Amino acid sequence: MIVLENGHVSEDALENYLLAQLQDSEAIEAQSHIAACPICQERMDELSQLVAAARLAPDALDAIRLELERGTVALKRPPLL
Ligand SMILES: [Zn+2]
Repeated sequence: MIVLENGHVSEDALENYLLAQLQDSEAIEAQSHIAACPICQERMDELSQLVAAARLAPDALDAIRLELERGTVALKRPPLL
């Protein structure tokens, strides 16, 4: 079972989905929710940009996560790299 937050795929699950870290059954669950949910599609677009940035600069992901936890950076804004 993937974790849902407020009826949507959680941030962690989305990230793991993008990184292909979910188990098959979880990935299918996430995929079917995302396919039917424009909100999660948008969140995934934003998160995939972060993941792409993190691939280029692996240390950046931790920094971005920290900023997100502090609430100083909203996911809507592009990451400041
Ligand atoms: Zn959703």
